[in-house]
Formats: sequence, structure tokens, C-alpha cells
Amino acid sequence: MVARVRHLFGRLTDVGEARSALGRALLYERFRALQRQIPLLYTVALVNFLGLAFASGLANFTLLHPANLLVLFVVVRMGHWLRNRGRQLAPEEIQSELRRTLFLAALISFGFGFYAITQFNLSSAYQQGLVILFASLASVGCAYALASFPVGARMPVWLLAIPFAGRLLLSPNSGHIAVGISLVLTALLVLRLVKIHDEGFVELVRSRSAVESERERAQHAEQAALTEKARVREVADTDPLTGLANRRAFIAELEERLGRNGGRPFALALLDLDDFKPINDIFGHAAGDAVLIEVAARLRRQGGAGPLTARIGGDEFALILPCGDESAAERTGMRICEMLGRPYHVEGRDFRISSCAGLVVLTPGGGDVRTALSRADAALYTGKEKGRGSAAVFTAEIEQANGRRIEIERRLSDPSIREAISLSYQPIFDLSTGALRSFEALARWTDPDLGLISPVEFIPIAEQINVIEGISDGLLARSAREAARWPDAVRLSFNLSAVQLCTAGSAPRLLAIIAAEGLAPERLQIEVTETSMLADFATARVNLEALRVAGARILLDDFGAGFASISYLREMIFDAIKIDGSLIAGVPQSPIGVRLLKGVLDLCASLRVPCVAEHIETQEQIDMLRQFGCRDGQGFALSAPLDAEEAGALGAAKVVPFAARNRGRRKHDSAA
Ligand code: C2E
Ligand code: MG
Ligand code: MG
Repeated sequence: MVARVRHLFGRLTDVGEARSALGRALLYERFRALQRQIPLLYTVALVNFLGLAFASGLANFTLLHPANLLVLFVVVRMGHWLRNRGRQLAPEEIQSELRRTLFLAALISFGFGFYAITQFNLSSAYQQGLVILFASLASVGCAYALASFPVGARMPVWLLAIPFAGRLLLSPNSGHIAVGISLVLTALLVLRLVKIHDEGFVELVRSRSAVESERERAQHAEQAALTEKARVREVADTDPLTGLANRRAFIAELEERLGRNGGRPFALALLDLDDFKPINDIFGHAAGDAVLIEVAARLRRQGGAGPLTARIGGDEFALILPCGDESAAERTGMRICEMLGRPYHVEGRDFRISSCAGLVVLTPGGGDVRTALSRADAALYTGKEKGRGSAAVFTAEIEQANGRRIEIERRLSDPSIREAISLSYQPIFDLSTGALRSFEALARWTDPDLGLISPVEFIPIAEQINVIEGISDGLLARSAREAARWPDAVRLSFNLSAVQLCTAGSAPRLLAIIAAEGLAPERLQIEVTETSMLADFATARVNLEALRVAGARILLDDFGAGFASISYLREMIFDAIKIDGSLIAGVPQSPIGVRLLKGVLDLCASLRVPCVAEHIETQEQIDMLRQFGCRDGQGFALSAPLDAEEAGALGAAKVVPFAARNRGRRKHDSAA
């Protein structure tokens, strides 16, 4: 029974579903409309109620009259609604507020109806007319005022209009009966109109909420598209290994900064790791990757996150730094190089690498990306020339040197330049017997505008712009042609560039070139430097072994100039080691220099590899080298580089005491 009553009450007070979006929207809209109309509703109820009370005679009116309570109640509720006007409530709060409104609407309607019927029974004919008027107006007015809350709107109809109409229908007065019928019909009409109004109201809210949810959906879709676009952009702009910005993102950032109208100057820094390749080659890519990740982490600390710090190539990085002038840029560049030069502890090993930096100070709105990059590149080139771990800032002098470099590049790109590059031949003698052992072919280039261009200058440029192969092959063919005319005992010593050395398939091509010129491989001597093997030691070894197998000799050139990596002596077999000129230059004046030279010569002796000393400029040096057991020698004290004809003539002489070639220099010890 209790359950049934509760069910019935539940049905009667069902004020709408708050779970669905539409239900919630309806709740809000009904409540909003009620908030606007309820004060009017109470005013209508109050005016009509007071009218009713006055019509039926104030004489009956006492303070304790139940009608007073109703008036008091209406005033309190009106105050409540006025206080809460415009307040935002949760759906559950709205539901309970509506339930309360429904209950009170029922109570007030019932009370009004009961009071109207009582007063009608007690009143005179005139007063009865007024009671009818106030009761009817109150029921119709209140039902309309509650139209946006139809369950509530039915209360004044069912609990006031219909019972009062029923009382009129029971009256013996035909006029009262007619009014009763009219009131019933009006009540039914009001119910119908409330229903129609509610259908329209629901439809309006439904379409508004459909538009709203469509707008929300579109907003979500737009937000999702923006998020996805940002994600795709981030992936496209990020270097996957280090998480730094990639070249594309960095260039875009640089372009944006250069394009700004005004702002502080900043520095663009390009960094190139010096000894990264051997880590990859010797310890594997995992170790190489770990080092790059650590480099990136150090740079991020310096240059910050985002597109300001980028990995723009395998072991090349770039930064945008807040340096306003050249000296600040140089200090920052040196600090970065010093920071990257600290040991790396990765995968249980300690690695040391260094890095060179090239910086250029830029002003927003002053210049384009291409020029900025080429200037930073020119500064980097200068940094590299200064030595490992060095930084250089772009200056007017660098610009001048860069201009010369660009001119050299332009000339080298033209294949006809090969004819302009000639060869000279510098003899290498046996220091004890004076016998001529070989001629080292040295490239010579004098340009009408640029003057003398040293091979130290143009060979690396030819390597960088990828024209070295054509130039070097041409020089090898020419020198092999010359060498074929020398006595069999005299070899051709040829400097092989780093690019050729580290390019797969170089060996068979070189052998084919000398074969075409009629020079046996046994008469070829290839000079390689340790740094030229750095780029790809594995390929260099394959090439050199193929040449050795064919009969050529391999010389390690400039030994002692760089790091004198002893490991190369273990990994590769060399037929001779050329001691770098810098080790000869200090002797015999410098005691440390003498000890160092002796130490290096002893090292070679213990490896049983003969030595060639280069850059011998004095008789003392010849004597000392001979005394320390150095087998061969080369240098201005023995002979300057000769042209092809002179070299041919020297080669034709059976045994030449090298001092005889030492034009104007001190004569050598005749015992040699
Ligand atoms: P390198 O192979 O060490 O060549 C010896 C360099 O020392 C030559 O300079 C030579 O002229 C110079 N020299 C000879 N005697 C003396 C001396 O007594 N004192 C001093 N201070 N220098 C002396 P050059 O011709 O300027 O060549 C420089 C470097 O350029 C060479 O060093 C070699 O690495 C490279 N190079 C020269 N020609 C070629 C070439 O045809 N191909 C390649 N790939 N590299 C070449
Ligand atoms: Mg050489
Ligand atoms: Mg050398």
C-alpha cells in the first residue's frame, strides 16, 4: 500500500529526466522560465485571493483565519523566488525545487478552491459574482503562469477551477450553472493550451539542444583536428633519436626570427662533432646513439627546448642563442665546445669527443636564412681549421676567406680545371746511401686571379663538393705516366684523399688507372693519413688491403701530427711510416723534441716498420735522423719538389747523392 502511494506520488511529482542531455536541457529551461514567471504567478494568486477575501467581507476576517496563513505562505514563497532569481542550480536541486513548487501549487490551489467554495456558500448574490470572478481569474491566470511546468499548471485547473465549477453546477441558479459549464470548458481549453504550449516548448528546447550538441560536436572535432595537427607537426618537426627539433623546424624558426620587424640581435651557432664517426664504427650504433642523446641533453641545457636547439644532420647541431655581439657569441661558443668536450659515460664506457662551433650574430629583419647559414658555416670551417674543440665567430676576414673559398669551389666544379692543376715530384732518398727511393706526387695549382692555391686548401674543398675523384684520378693517371719512365727501383708515392680512401671500390679503380698507364702496382706507394681513415675505417681497410694484395705499398703519412692513434698501427699493416714534419722541425735545438723524435722512431723500429722523415730542412736533422736509425728522408734539405722533366732526369741518374740536389743548402756528410 505504502509502495503504491509512493509510486503514485512519484508519478505525480515526476518533473523530468535529468539523465539525458535533452532531459537536463528541459529541466534548466523550465526552471529558467519559472524563475521569470513565478513572482507574477504569486502576484496573480495574491491579488485574486485578497480580492476574494474582500469580496466575501472582511468582517469574517480574523488574524487566525486559515486564509491568512495562505497569504503569508504566498508572500514567503515569493520572497524565496525573488531571492533566488538568476541562481544556477544543479539538475538535482532543480528537480527538488520543481517538486516543491508542484506540491505548493497543489496546496495553494486546493486551499484557494476550498476557500472560494466556502465563501461562495456564505455570500450574497452580488458577492457570489465577485467570488466566481476571482476564482476563475486565479485558476486561469495561475495555470498560464505555470505553462512552462505543465504538471504544475494542471493544479490550479484540477484543484481550483474544476471543484469550483462543480459547486456552481450544483447550484439551483441557472446563471451559476451556465458559468459552471463555461468554467469547465475554459479549464479544459486551458489544459489543452498548456499542452500545446508545452509541446512547442519541448520542441524548441530539443532543437536548441540539438544545435548546441552539434556545435559542441563540431567544437570537439575541431579541437581533435587541432590536437592531431599539432601532434603530426611535432612529429614532423622532431628528430626521433634526440627529441630535439630537426633541420626543417630549425630553419623555419630561424626564418621567422630573421623576418621579425625589430628585436634584439641573436646568434646562430652550427656545431660539428669532431670524432663521432669512430665511436659508431668501433663501438657500434647503440653507443653512437647514446652519445648523441647525451650531446642533445647538454645542448638543451644550454640552448633551451623547442626549435631553438636542433639536430640538423648526423653529428651536426644548431642553436639560436641570445648573444647580442661577437664577443658574447665567441664566449658562448667556447663554453659549448668545452661542455661537449667533457667525457661521456654511456653504456658502461667513457668516451671523449670534441666539437667545433661556428657562430654568426644576426639582427631580426637583417638578411635571409641562406646567407645566415653560409656565414655560420664559414665560421665553423674556420673553427675547424683552428683545431678540435674550437669556436669561431663570423667576421669580415672570414667573409673574405669565404669569398675565396666560394671562388675555388666555382673553379673546381668546372671539369676543365683539371688541366690547370699540375704535378711536382719531391724525391724521397735513402738517408744512409743517398739512393733515390721514390717521388711523391704533389698537386700544384696557380690561378691567374687567386694566385697560388695550396693542395691543403683545395683538396678538402674538392672533397666537400664531391669532385675529388675526377681530379685525383686525373693526377694519378698523369703521375703514373711519368713514373712509368723512371727506373723500376723508383716508386711513385701518391697521396690518396680521405673521400677516395673511404669509398668502396676505390682500390680496383686506382689499379685500373695505373695499369692503363703501364705502371706495375709494385711501383705504387699510397700515402694515407690517420685522419683520412677516420670517416670510415672499415672501408678504408678494405681498399688498402686490396691495394696491398695487388702489390702496392701503403705509407702512413703525417704520423704524429694528430693524435697518432696507435690503434691504427695495430689494426692495419703499413709498409712505412712517414714521421710528420712537426716532429722534425724542433730538432736538434729542443731536447724534448729530440727525445720525442727518438721515441717515435724507436716505436716504429719495435714494430719493424721503416720510417720516412719529411720536412728535413737542415744537415743537423739529416745527421740526427741517420743516427736514430731513420731509413728514408724527404725535405728541402734533400730536394725541393721538382717538375716532371727534372724528376725524370734525377730518376735517370743511377745513384744520386742527395746533397748534390741541395741547391745552395749545406752539403751533406760524404759518408752518407
Ligand atoms: P704531405 O703529403 O705531407 O706532403 C708534403 C708537403 O710538405 C708538401 O706540401 C711539400 O711541398 C711540403 N714539404 C716538402 N718538403 C718540405 C720541407 O722541407 N719543409 C716544409 N715546411 N714543407 C715541405 P704541399 O705540396 O703543399 O702539400 C701539402 C699536402 O697536400 C700534402 O701533405 C698532401 O697531404 C696534400 N696533397 C698534395 N698533393 C696531393 C694530391 O695530389 N692528392 C691529395 N689527395 N693530397 C695531396
Ligand atoms: Mg704525403
Ligand atoms: Mg706528410
